[in-house]
Amino acid sequence: MAKMNESFLSLKKSYLFIEIGKRVREYIAAHPDNKIIRMGIGDVTQPLVPAVVEAMKKAADEMGVKETFRGYEDSGLGYDFLRDAVRDYYKSFGVEVKSAEVLISDGAKSDCGNIGDIFSADNTVLITDPAYPVYVDSNVMGGRKVIFADSNEENGFAAMPDKNVHADIIYLCSPNNPTGSVYTKAQLKEWVDYAIANDAVIIYDAAYEAFISDPELPRSIFCIEGARKCAVEICSLSKTAGFTGTRCGYTIVPEELMLKTPTGEDISFYQLWTRRQGSKFNGVSYPVQRAAEAVFSPEGQAQCKAVIASYMANAKIMAETFDSLGIEYTGGKNSPYIWFKCPFGMNSWDFFDKLLNEAEVVGTPGEGFGKNGDGWFRLTAFNTLENTKEAMERFKKLCGK
Ligand code: PLP
Repeated sequence: MAKMNESFLSLKKSYLFIEIGKRVREYIAAHPDNKIIRMGIGDVTQPLVPAVVEAMKKAADEMGVKETFRGYEDSGLGYDFLRDAVRDYYKSFGVEVKSAEVLISDGAKSDCGNIGDIFSADNTVLITDPAYPVYVDSNVMGGRKVIFADSNEENGFAAMPDKNVHADIIYLCSPNNPTGSVYTKAQLKEWVDYAIANDAVIIYDAAYEAFISDPELPRSIFCIEGARKCAVEICSLSKTAGFTGTRCGYTIVPEELMLKTPTGEDISFYQLWTRRQGSKFNGVSYPVQRAAEAVFSPEGQAQCKAVIASYMANAKIMAETFDSLGIEYTGGKNSPYIWFKCPFGMNSWDFFDKLLNEAEVVGTPGEGFGKNGDGWFRLTAFNTLENTKEAMERFKKLCGK
């Protein structure tokens, strides 16, 4: 009989959203007429913007006409029209990347997970804790040793490197899911210097860059000197433009980034990653790439920015609520997530139950994202203004006592 990849035996049970779903279903069954407000899941709630829908429809029509029909895309790395649009988008916030360095994907989760294919199993992987779970899970599946850098109350949930600890691969996410914290340029420079000193590669997840409005905060790791020698950046249109169900992202791999062969020579990261993609990935559909291109058009940008502004208006109301209650939190500014210390000294699951049972608001227990999440809790701004206001009124009643 075929044998399993035994590394899967080391995976922690992924029970967070299953357990949340179970507790919410039980509550609804017992209180069928009550209005529950969901602020737990990190999915967007607003539809695709008109510029994107029009572009996708037009491309779908082209697919139904012999002269404009498209089959496999030649490279599978993305059409030039989209790669150029991403390059120009980066230029708009002052970062130079080459169009050829932009590799189109079906979303950030796939690339965050798949990128491990090109690394040896004997690398040590450093992941900030708490973290988006795919970083840990994909490296455990790959049999790599995972170590953690603590994001906690003391460092404002922005873990920093420890010079006495060696790592070969580092995962960073800013603005962070789940903590909403955002690295400053000076903090990112420390990580870049650490990576260079350790001959390490940073996998930088910028899925929430579009939520940054403070011009002093870096939207890309490539704002930082030296980053092209030690980092790749993974990005997504899921939160930027509501593509969670449409699926499109991009990874930027600088030409000069190198890995080591077993005999100690340099080998191009780009060459290895495009080889991997060429073997296992056949590209993103033409209509979706046209839709993605429309995100970066002036009209698309204006429309997407208006949607993000509406989410951030919710985040502001949430932040003001926590300020008024004197509850400690990170995020809510330059990020759609608010990460707060559970009131009443409760642990995250007990607070989850209290919030559900007494305020009928659903959130996410921080413990599900790593050990430093215990006693902390995540709420998201992906909701309507009306629901956010009502949820915060309920929250005040519950926690203002
Ligand atoms: N990275 C982070 C930090 C996320 O929070 C998410 C989704 O929630 C993703 C990546 C996944 O994005 P995508 O929908 O592009 O796969």
